[in-house]
Amino acid sequence: MTLQEGRYHIGGADALEIVERFGAPVYVYDADTMKRQYRRMTSAFDKVKRLRINFACKALTNLNVLHIFRELGSGLDTVSIQEVEMGLLAGFDPHDILFTPNCVGLDEISEAVAKGVRINIDNIEILEQFGARHPEVPVCIRINPHIMAGGNSKISVGHIDSKFGISIHQVPHVLKIVSALGLKIEGLHMHTGSDIYDAQVFLRAVEILLSSAGDFPDLDYLDFGSGFKVAYKEGGIATDIEDLGEQLSARFSEFCKAYGRDLELMFEPGKFLVSEAGYFLVKTNVVKTTTASVFAGVDSGLNHLIRPMFYEAYHHITNISNPGGKTRIYNVVGYICETDTFGVNRQLSEVREDDILVMANAGAYSFMMASNYNSRFRPAEVMVIDGEAHLIRRRETMEDLMRGQVELEVLKSSALM
Ligand SMILES: *Cc1c(COP(=O)(O)O)cnc(C)c1O
Repeated sequence: MTLQEGRYHIGGADALEIVERFGAPVYVYDADTMKRQYRRMTSAFDKVKRLRINFACKALTNLNVLHIFRELGSGLDTVSIQEVEMGLLAGFDPHDILFTPNCVGLDEISEAVAKGVRINIDNIEILEQFGARHPEVPVCIRINPHIMAGGNSKISVGHIDSKFGISIHQVPHVLKIVSALGLKIEGLHMHTGSDIYDAQVFLRAVEILLSSAGDFPDLDYLDFGSGFKVAYKEGGIATDIEDLGEQLSARFSEFCKAYGRDLELMFEPGKFLVSEAGYFLVKTNVVKTTTASVFAGVDSGLNHLIRPMFYEAYHHITNISNPGGKTRIYNVVGYICETDTFGVNRQLSEVREDDILVMANAGAYSFMMASNYNSRFRPAEVMVIDGEAHLIRRRETMEDLMRGQVELEVLKSSALM
């Protein structure tokens, strides 16, 4: 977001005009930022002969976002059969979709096989069943290297007690199954969590995966998942992707030489590609002074953006309606009948009723985690392309809210009695 002549712009489009046109609350995505982040990633690894980025689409699954990544040449990382179907609807080649579910049944995996997408299996029990049902289908296996990434156990999935992946210590068991069922293991995968700001920690996990890769002679790719962090505050820590690219590319090439073949290097970033592209614009309903705080109460809440409450995520907040105003300290809170605080002790230029506040880093896991709690509509989504704002999801209506509810005649009529 940039300030030009006293007005805030997102991707070149005037932010307040977007609210006038499409209403608030509204999610706004800047297509250029997504493209820039994708290109940063590919150029960081441009020394690798075969590179594939699979956008982890659970971060932001709007069809138009999928189109952008398909056009850039990205593949897709999916975690449900519905995401697989959306990827196919968006025109992805099945071969460019990797299905990485966790704790789903064999039938859902078989559905994905029928659609021709690549399969990643994350436990030994399903691997055995899969091998018995689809002995001819090559698979990838998800290894848990037990590297603790970051300190937040809600987003760290590689630790010893994590439900994700097959423990690196179980590889001997995997090898027995592979040989007994004649399975072809085409890829090895790891995804340690969402907080990698230390290239050294990431490279340690990579070493662990590589130490097992030699046991699998049929590999076509190695997928090192994601965990790439973007800065949420000015000067906040972020993954130094260029540094990681340099170190990891060298190590990967060395490994391929020893392995005897150029494998494909895969990543599956979500947050890195879309977080900074997204902004959440809300309107101030009330400014309320209590004994201890000034609250700015907005027309949204944990139903639309749950990350601050669920992960204690920091989303930078700006009052775009009063750029020149004096700064005051606010707690920005939602309208849901729960504690739904977006930010405490935030310095904002003075907030007045109807002022529009913008929360940054709202591209990943933001709209996607929205719900209808308190029977509220989910917001609209807008994408800015070449300075033009386009509606890419309309705001919900009462009809959307009632869809799927089955009203029983017997109860309806008894209410009349
Ligand atoms: C969610 C997820 C990702 C993306 O993680 P980010 O932190 O958003 O980059 C990648 N791989 C798998 C298997 C995931 O479940």
